[in-house]
Amino acid sequence: MNMLSEKTVSKGYYGDFGGSFVPEDLQKVMDHLEGQFLKVQDDPKFNEEFRYYLREYVGRENPLTFAENLTRVTGGAKLYLKREDLNHTGAHKINNVVGQILLAKRMGVNRVIAETGAGQHGVATATVCAMFGIECVIYMGKLDTERQALNVFRMELLGAKVVAVEKGQGRLKDAVDEALADLVQNHKDTFYLLGSAVGPHPYPTMVKHFQSVISEESKRQILEKEGKLPAAVIACTGGGSNAIGAFAHYIDEPEVRLVGVEPSEAPTLSEGVPAVIHGFKCLTLLDEKGEPKPTYSIAAGLDYPGVGPEHSFLKVSGRAEYVTISGSEALEAFQILSRTEGIIPALESSHAVAHAIKLAKELPDSESIIINLSGRGDKDVEQVFNMLKKE
Ligand SMILES: *Cc1c(COP(=O)(O)O)cnc(C)c1O
Repeated sequence: MNMLSEKTVSKGYYGDFGGSFVPEDLQKVMDHLEGQFLKVQDDPKFNEEFRYYLREYVGRENPLTFAENLTRVTGGAKLYLKREDLNHTGAHKINNVVGQILLAKRMGVNRVIAETGAGQHGVATATVCAMFGIECVIYMGKLDTERQALNVFRMELLGAKVVAVEKGQGRLKDAVDEALADLVQNHKDTFYLLGSAVGPHPYPTMVKHFQSVISEESKRQILEKEGKLPAAVIACTGGGSNAIGAFAHYIDEPEVRLVGVEPSEAPTLSEGVPAVIHGFKCLTLLDEKGEPKPTYSIAAGLDYPGVGPEHSFLKVSGRAEYVTISGSEALEAFQILSRTEGIIPALESSHAVAHAIKLAKELPDSESIIINLSGRGDKDVEQVFNMLKKE
């Protein structure tokens, strides 16, 4: 299916970015989904149910931990960690999948499908499907299923069916195409559960809504601890879901700097140009032929040539800053946080930690910085072991 053609809808725009650029049959499915989401968004009963599962299943609220040792060795502003790593399944992704599966249940569907690259979103989706007793099909590029055999097994253990997509290059993009084809065919009883703040409207808006719980909590927590807002909030950006959730409640607080950190190896916001990718418009890394450029980051979750439309807008409007951190800087931060605080961060989150260490030194100790610790690093320990062995 060619996602890059056909019509434009004027909904779900952040400045010039976002929208929905999909074939007509898929647009009908998106319109229906938008209507259903708008109904639940401000529905007290829905929100009560969402809060219930965040508390009883995910384990929220999670702490805003003062990283006292890291602050001492760094010098400068106080460093706080928003502990998404303590959530059930070990990352922020669970917030969004719980929200979307509750919406799917409301819509009366009994089958959920999702795409996954490295497998993290697939595992989160399979987890909530197991919990809610909903049939789950995960599309994954053949090449990715071979590289991430353990995550495939994990999804199967949770009762999901993993479909290895052989078409194309056997990568994430091919898995997305297959999942969309499935959705168009089976939309009456199937919900497509998308994993980041990307894709056609209403997905970016919906994912932000569910991830905003991060900054809703952190704002209350920092005001309790410091009596004032932080000087900066720092988060890593792949598709941008943990970052938009960490920023959401500070966007209208101009004195708080919002800093997104991308890998130097996939600098979408730093070097991208406006283009349509996977059904929406955003800053995108393109090759000479104008095709999305293949990227490689040591952090699988940050390895994406596009980014959420709202981040694209926050960048061009100047409200947020986006910086890059290299793989080796992230690897160093991974070790520093492990040794100083006894917290092993995900390689994705290590990018945010690395930049926070730089920024803290430039600020006085009367200021504070919130690092969104998007996930824990247990999944990365073997990879880091192999990387350090080579050095
Ligand atoms: C998936 C993932 C990311 C990147 O996704 P975003 O949508 O950019 O948040 C970051 N950190 C962790 C731990 C992840 O699992």
